[in-house]
Parts: sequence; structure tokens; C-alpha cells
Amino acid sequence: MNLTHAHLADGRDIFFFDDEPRERTVEDPREITRPEGGNEMRFDPFLQEWVAIAAARQNRTHLPSSDQCPLCPSTPERASEIPQAQYDVAVFENRFPSFRGDEPVPADLLSTSDAEQEAAGLVQPGSGRCEVVCFTDDHTSQLAQATTTRMRTVVDAWAARSEALLQMPGVEQVYCFENRGEEIGVTLHHPHGQIYGYPFITPRTRRILDSAESYRQRRDSDLFADVLAAEQAEGSRIVRRTEHWTAFIPAWARWPVELQIWPNRPIERLPELTEAERDDFAELYLDMLRRGDRLFSGRLPYISGWQQAPRSASQGLMRLHCQLFSIRRAENKLKYLAGSESGMGVFINDIAPEEMAQRLRDLAEDAADPAAADPAAAGTASTEEEA
Ligand SMILES: [Zn+2]
Repeated sequence: MNLTHAHLADGRDIFFFDDEPRERTVEDPREITRPEGGNEMRFDPFLQEWVAIAAARQNRTHLPSSDQCPLCPSTPERASEIPQAQYDVAVFENRFPSFRGDEPVPADLLSTSDAEQEAAGLVQPGSGRCEVVCFTDDHTSQLAQATTTRMRTVVDAWAARSEALLQMPGVEQVYCFENRGEEIGVTLHHPHGQIYGYPFITPRTRRILDSAESYRQRRDSDLFADVLAAEQAEGSRIVRRTEHWTAFIPAWARWPVELQIWPNRPIERLPELTEAERDDFAELYLDMLRRGDRLFSGRLPYISGWQQAPRSASQGLMRLHCQLFSIRRAENKLKYLAGSESGMGVFINDIAPEEMAQRLRDLAEDAADPAAADPAAAGTASTEEEA
């Protein structure tokens, strides 16, 4: 691994993952301290879910001009968050974390609290860990434009940080993700993603594990293996299948564009991926991002993240997979989480998954790339609110 570990001036960790072996000397010249406090977790007794309160985040940097970008390399005139003149992939602790602290959430919290306390909503000190992953030192680039070598370095960074975070006392589950596009609420344009170390099992993961367990009890079979076999046999929702991965739109897709990329063998977490699986994913993932950018004029706003097993044993119930989805449903139209989705949790998808899979299959490598041809126009497409 071409890895350098150092510390920022306020004590936060920073890691450099390089495409090629490289010696780095890291010195952060700034006089900064970490903002303290403001992190708390509250338990919703109806949904049985935690809500994180992170008051310090209100003050975080919001859409700075490019010469003030905290993720660009440092220059002699200006020290950024990254005290290097050049980097390939850099990962550091978020200065304004949603989750921070070493206190694990006790598993028996509900049974040990009294009724009055549970009804009022349990409160826990903030816990967990948040990191920022910079995919390139080029402010104006995009992950979709990365070389396969760089994409592979990003996969290695995700895997290495997942492994490290899962060993930290306040972390129960690790989520590596990217929000891309102002439409998604991105506050920094510099190409970057995030890694959240949650101090509990997230609601989505809990439900997936419960479903897989129930399926195993009823059918004596693996839900993930059976869904993958069914999708591969049916074929109409497969966008692309490689030696190690299958990219498809699930029959029950909630979003206009919702790709799931699953390994063809059962793997629970990113660190388990072999060299060949990482190489294969890097090539496939860039292909999928580029197809997404060809769907509409302007780059596709998207959220992409890895579902992986939590730290506590999942008994082989989880299969690692990447979920890549977009709120864009048509040229100049966004899907908003409105009444039914936000209020009731019932999604209405305006596009049949089979139709979207066909469109993405038709957008293979040789098709024209409007976003690459005119980067100035990309990402600035105006949006129209839905009625
Ligand atoms: Zn930048």
C-alpha cells in the first residue's frame, strides 16, 4: 500500500493514498483547534431510529470560491486542509463531523432505560467518526473522469479506511459514499466523498439483515444469492455483467436511476475484495458513472454508497454492494422527496426499471459524451420544480 499517515495541526488524522509509491513529509503550519461539543444522538421511540444532532455543522464551509477551497492542495500563500503541494487521494477526519466520539451505543439500551426515559427520547453523547475522501487534487475534475488506476486507489482507500474504522471503539458500521452535484446538496465542488463510521447499525442495514435472516429461516437459502440469480436469469434489468460484478437496476427501484453493483460471490465488507475484484470494479464503476453522465445533458447528480456488514457478526446475511442513484428523472426535472416519500416512506418511481436499464445499456462507451465535450455547460442545467 502506498500510504502515508500524518496529523493535521489540531490533531486530526490525515492519510495519503498514492497511485505509485511516494515519500511524503507532512507539516501543517496552521494554528487551529477542533471545535468542541455540539454532537448528540436522540432516539425516536416510534421509528426506533437514532437522529444525530450536530449543531457545529451549521458553521461549516459552504460553496467557497475555488481559491478558498479547503480540499485543494496547500500553496505557500494559503494553507488548506491538505498540507501538501500535490496529492492523489487524501483522507482526513472531518472538521465538522456528524458523528464523533468513542462511546459505543449499548446494545441493551432500551431494556435498561425506564419507560419515562424511553418515552421522552433517549439521549446519547455523540459518537462515531466522519472522514472526507478527496479523489484528486484537481478542483475542476470529476470522479467519472478519473483514470482506472486512480479509481483503483480510491477503492483501496475505501477498503483500508473501512477496516480501520471498524476497529475503533465508537464505530459499529462503516458507510463510504459520495454526493455529487449541487442538486444533491453538495457544499464543496472539489471532487470528494465521505466515510461515516456510525456508532450503531443503521436502519436500512438492520432491515436488510432482518429480511435476509427471515428468508433464510423460511427458505433455507440466501436472499442475496437468489435475487442475483433471478436477475441474471431474467436479464432485462442487467446493465452490465463482468467476471466479478453485476450491475443492475432492481425490480423495486425507488429512484429514476438506481443502479446496484453486486459482487458475483458472497462478500460482506470492502476489505475482503481481492486485487482482481478491485481492478474489475474500478473499470466497471467508471463506465457506469460515464453512462450516467450521458443520460441527460449536463452531469448526473447522484448519491453513491457502499452497503456493507456491520462490525458485529452478521452470520453471512449481508452481501457487500454499491448503490448508485440519482434524483434526476428527466431533462431539467428532479425527483423530490415529497408527501408520499418524505411523509410516509412510500416511493413512487416514474420510470420503469426495465426501461432505464435499456437506456443505460444503450449508452455504452462509444456513445457521444456531452458532459465531456462541453464541461462549461455541464452541471449548470437549470432545474424545474415538480408540480
Ligand atoms: Zn478544491
